[in-house]
Amino acid sequence: MSIYKAPRGTHDIFGKLALGLEKLDLISRQVFRKHNFKEVRTPIFEDVSLFTRSIGEATDIVEKEMYVFEDRKGRKLALRPEGTASLVRAYIEHRFDMTEPIGKFFYSGEMFRYERPQAGRYRQFLQMGAEYLANPSPNADVEIILVAKEILSTLNIKDITIHLNSLGCPKCRAEFRQKLVDYFASISDLCEDCKRRLEKNPLRLLDCKIDSNKFQNVPTMQECLCDDCNNHFQQVQALLKRVDCDYIVDHKLVRGLDYYTRTVFEVRSSSVGSQDALCAGGRYDNLVKELGGQQIPSVGFALGCERVLMACEQNGFFDSLQTDDVVFIALADEELFVDAFTFANDLILNNNDIRKDICLSENIIIEGPFLNKSLKSQFKLADKIGAKKTIIFGKNEFDKGKIIVKDMVTQEQKEVKLPDYCFNRQICNTDSNEVFKNVKK
Ligand code: AMP
Repeated sequence: MSIYKAPRGTHDIFGKLALGLEKLDLISRQVFRKHNFKEVRTPIFEDVSLFTRSIGEATDIVEKEMYVFEDRKGRKLALRPEGTASLVRAYIEHRFDMTEPIGKFFYSGEMFRYERPQAGRYRQFLQMGAEYLANPSPNADVEIILVAKEILSTLNIKDITIHLNSLGCPKCRAEFRQKLVDYFASISDLCEDCKRRLEKNPLRLLDCKIDSNKFQNVPTMQECLCDDCNNHFQQVQALLKRVDCDYIVDHKLVRGLDYYTRTVFEVRSSSVGSQDALCAGGRYDNLVKELGGQQIPSVGFALGCERVLMACEQNGFFDSLQTDDVVFIALADEELFVDAFTFANDLILNNNDIRKDICLSENIIIEGPFLNKSLKSQFKLADKIGAKKTIIFGKNEFDKGKIIVKDMVTQEQKEVKLPDYCFNRQICNTDSNEVFKNVKK
């Protein structure tokens, strides 16, 4: 047994999960491209102050979840806990406002947060996100929500609810904040976290898991929205209704990052347990300026890949992943190893012509040939890896320019003529056969 284990809160990705992530990546990229979002890859670590400044000093992420370290020159860096701050940094640094008239970008990659691990919550996890910069209009908010929804519906995740709220602008939020402070001051038995947050970040009390059921008739942001913010919120809702996108207005939705203004949303699934938010996002009209750029109102979301795949567990998504048939190349006579190896390579490289000639479908995976194995153990191996067909190289057939194709399901075998160009090349090029024979002896 290995004496090492993956660090707490991290996990190795292989097998079904690796295939699932590949498919999710493919589907999301197709959806992003359709909506004209372009990829930006940013570093996995950044200057720590990029995150403290954008996410907010009084947030859980900055207070206790960041992986912060110093490099050899004493620079203070942090593993990225989320993708928006880095994307905005790249936008400003490369003057995308000059080169990308429509500021639509997407990213994907690992994020790091020192959280208490549980199902669906990790210290290293994967997110895919989209950001729509430089569009203040409600249609940008709605397109972002629709992109998130489209990815989830393409994955056939049905049990989702879109929670929607508006956090207003700094002006109207100040009033809301004060109302909350007054309200919470009247509640005596707040938990330690809530007591601490009351001063610095009273909005976060609204989504406290311990205290939230003590809060009756809490003031809502709706009551405090200024006219502009209220109009924006109404317009977002009108557009969502118009495109038949169901949602619920959730006054308690506040989100854990400080940069949000106006629209915030979360897409939750009822099939993944307590960590039920599959994706989340919102508008951040002041962040670009806060990080040194112009006033560029923007909106975005991030989707947690592991959680999304948890929501796919029951819907048949994983059954449909391995669709390509495995074709196993077996040797009845080892002296044909080089011919079989070359043939396997031809199949892989030059696939369609040869595949057509020997009646194999286009989407196949080629495995083999192997040296030093009896034909029986080669068949066993072919069975173990679920091969649909085995192509057998035997001397009698090969001398006639043929191979045997065995159907592993029906056990039927038939001789199939090798395409001429393929056979001729192999019998003309005997040198490598000789080298192999010599090495074996
Ligand atoms: P956030 O960046 O906090 O807005 O989160 C966006 C999405 O990322 C969430 O809805 C989750 O699906 C996912 N997510 C956030 N934190 C974690 C975590 N610690 N482990 C796994 N997924 C996470």
